[in-house]
Amino acid sequence: LAVLGVLPMNGAAPYVAGGRWRSTPNTFAVTDPATDDVLAQVADCGPQEAEAAIQDAQNAFESWARTPARTRSDALRAWHDAILAHAEPLATVATAECGKPLAEARAEVAYAASFVEWFAEEAPRVAGEVKSNVAQDRRLLTVRQPVGVAAAITPWNFPLAMITRKVAPAIAAGCPVVVKPSEYTPLTALALARLADGLLPPGVLNVIPASRQNAQPVGEVLCDSDVVRALSFTGSTAVGKWLYSRCASTVKKLGLELGGNAPMIVLKSADLDTAVRAAMASKYRYGGQTCVCADRFLVHEAVVDAFVERLAAEASALKLGHGLDAGTGIGPLIDEAATFKCQERVKGAVRAGGRVVCGGNKPPGPGSFFEPTVVRDVAIDSELWQLETFGPVAGVAAFSDDAEAVRLANEGPAGLAAYVCGELGHAWAVAERLDFGIVGVNEGAVSHAAMPFGGTKESGLGREGGNHGIDEYLEDKYLCLGGL
Ligand code: ADP
Repeated sequence: LAVLGVLPMNGAAPYVAGGRWRSTPNTFAVTDPATDDVLAQVADCGPQEAEAAIQDAQNAFESWARTPARTRSDALRAWHDAILAHAEPLATVATAECGKPLAEARAEVAYAASFVEWFAEEAPRVAGEVKSNVAQDRRLLTVRQPVGVAAAITPWNFPLAMITRKVAPAIAAGCPVVVKPSEYTPLTALALARLADGLLPPGVLNVIPASRQNAQPVGEVLCDSDVVRALSFTGSTAVGKWLYSRCASTVKKLGLELGGNAPMIVLKSADLDTAVRAAMASKYRYGGQTCVCADRFLVHEAVVDAFVERLAAEASALKLGHGLDAGTGIGPLIDEAATFKCQERVKGAVRAGGRVVCGGNKPPGPGSFFEPTVVRDVAIDSELWQLETFGPVAGVAAFSDDAEAVRLANEGPAGLAAYVCGELGHAWAVAERLDFGIVGVNEGAVSHAAMPFGGTKESGLGREGGNHGIDEYLEDKYLCLGGL
């Protein structure tokens, strides 16, 4: 962290608002989930700091909104370059806080930077429309203008990319942002902001870490503020629903990326090498702690034995360890409660007739580890099937008929990601019938800055990234030029 210049002030990492790095009376501890060691103390922002940061953002708004798009683009491009130039320290801080293997953290730095690059390119492309011949005495046109101050509440599982995916389009559109990062990963967020120092005008990027105790009070300030015109949240469905209702009083633009419980359908026509590769990429990335990780595997009865055997062989070969150690395939889960949840889900599935093929336990010793696990013959009404586990546990059930697989996949309130493996025409036919925002066909790692990310049903509202990611931060203003 010292490498990035986020030096402790009075023994704690400061927050940044209005271009100034500041301390707070209270601090909270950030720990390494692989060792339970305290990494640092961090400024604990409360409602007062949140109000002030919103004001700092508002003070920056008018000038940033009027700044030529090319200048905003250049600033984002410079931030992108700074992120890549500091890829190694950024990845190291992310791994220390969130536990993901260093190779995954490095990949996340590139993924996070790709949003900054993408929206740097989008900034000068924002354009309205002109209807020149729909009425004789007037001309009708639109201009697209920044919505105002934006707020972002972000999770710990992608401590870099979930910030850049929100902040880059907001800044590109002309909106200053107040970011409330996860209490598990504030140092990564502060390091990102540090790299923007001197590149973005004061107040355009404000980062206010808060302890878990302050998350809701700060959330209330962000939701209730009539200065904040857009709020973007990635996190649990429960908190997302609470924010949705809380934002009603100010009728904010709202982007929500909530939980998934992704099915992966392995059709009879699937190439098993491809299916197992897709399953490994999707299920065990960051130990299963992404909202697009495959959770429920629906495998055709003709291939289920072979698929399970090969998946279990590959999964159990993943080495558990500290994310910074070479050869680590799975780091710790984010906390002890996460391992407890995995354990309970596995036990419940076994009580309902499931069979553990590999893993299934929390190994002894420090750190919140859980073994890579495959459970087959999982009952459809078990919690392992019905609920997102957010851990390295694959639940497998067999099916005999494609229509039944589609019906089971579409069941439930989540609609973020789904996967299908099979011969291309066969898989395509199934993919079209899946009620999800994202479908991977013969591929388990699908996210890309150029494409829209988001869910149907209770998985969220809106899309991030791609051509439409900037829309969340723009208003279309209709101008009617009369008297012609
Ligand atoms: P997770 O279980 O993955 O940590 P959460 O939804 O609890 O997901 O957290 C995602 C983000 O939402 C974090 O930044 C967290 O601090 C924040 N958060 C949690 N509860 C609230 C709340 N009531 N109001 C606002 N933000 C919250």
